[in-house]
Amino acid sequence: MAKKTVRDIDVSGKRVLVRVDFNVPLDSAGNVTDDTRIRAALPTIKYLIGERARVVLMSHLGRPKGKVDERYRMGPVADRLAQLLGAPVRKMDECIGDQVRQAADSLGEGDVMLLENVRFYPGEEKNEPDFARQLAALGDILVNDAFGTAHRAHASNKGVAEFIPAVAGFLMEKEISMLSRVLSEPAKPFVAIIGGAKVSDKIGVIDNLLQKVNALLIGGGMANTFLRAGGLETGKSLLEEDKVDLAKQLMRQAKELGVAMLLPVDVVVAPEASPGAESKVVAVQEIPGDAMALDIGPQTVQNFGARIKDAATVVWNGPMGVFEMEPFAGGTVAVARALADSNAVTVIGGGDSAAAVEKAGVADKITHISTGGGASLKFLEGKELPGVAALQDK
Ligand code: ADP
Ligand code: MG
Repeated sequence: MAKKTVRDIDVSGKRVLVRVDFNVPLDSAGNVTDDTRIRAALPTIKYLIGERARVVLMSHLGRPKGKVDERYRMGPVADRLAQLLGAPVRKMDECIGDQVRQAADSLGEGDVMLLENVRFYPGEEKNEPDFARQLAALGDILVNDAFGTAHRAHASNKGVAEFIPAVAGFLMEKEISMLSRVLSEPAKPFVAIIGGAKVSDKIGVIDNLLQKVNALLIGGGMANTFLRAGGLETGKSLLEEDKVDLAKQLMRQAKELGVAMLLPVDVVVAPEASPGAESKVVAVQEIPGDAMALDIGPQTVQNFGARIKDAATVVWNGPMGVFEMEPFAGGTVAVARALADSNAVTVIGGGDSAAAVEKAGVADKITHISTGGGASLKFLEGKELPGVAALQDK
């Protein structure tokens, strides 16, 4: 990797400020209902403890919008972290100020403290230099392990790096190296699967991947706009009229580049997107005027599956249908299984896509499932993420 990681610097005895993603779901009583993100940060935290660093953790939680919101205090997170570490975690009620500063300075080697929710301060999301400077005063080094916010230029991941050297934590390192590996040196055949609701959300991703892949498989709601571009009627399906020309242009471009673009040949239709709706499979030429296409059909699953089977690299973003509802989850689950069964390097980006793979029960058979929804999309667009740009080069 081109960026320095926590392994490339000497942290022993230093105060290390660590930006983690502890944005975990809480129930109404304030209990952590899923600690996946806390556990994902443990390798970096344990490494720092082992190196006898003095560890100052910070994260956001929920959307408190720049002011104190009692529902989003970090207390329950600190408790869970302490449990997982089997060591005490000193929880602060603020992020900046004399008291926090003194606490950070008095940490012993291998001690861990957790700051209050950084989004209690308006300076965080606005990346105000004064807030960043006060955070930076708590550490000698910044370790950024929060890939999920790397596409945002906030004080805790970008601003702080103006004052102290910044390096990647292990989770960040894994995300950057896996995502850049498939974009810069993919083993061929390279297949991309793009789905989800709208073409407009994914134009950047399609543009970037078209230049690199051998085949592009399109499903989900956005496929309707491509079907329309091919002259078909799509009934009441989700359709972006104003993107039909763009879809035509992308289809031409694929042809010029020699990229096989596969669209659905059959779809699951229903009168409405509801879990109890009566659904049936029709050829794409026969979508009824009063129906919506809500999933790819079995023949399309076969066509996509054949490409996936032959691939050496597969990148997938965007579900193939309204997978949240049982009658329209089949295509997405089948594609997830095809990825799980293939020998290819398989990488999944996008929040809903990651959830779909979990739901299909095959997450452990995928090479890499990105933990950052928006961040992974920006990365697949080929954009440099502000939080990554702020890390020191090797
Ligand atoms: P990701 O978060 O993985 O990037 P998106 O947010 O782009 O994925 O898309 C996910 C959403 O797309 C899901 O809520 C799903 O219900 C919706 N979707 C998929 N296929 C269709 C369809 N045919 N019609 C309407 N919505 C769809
Ligand atoms: Mg989404």
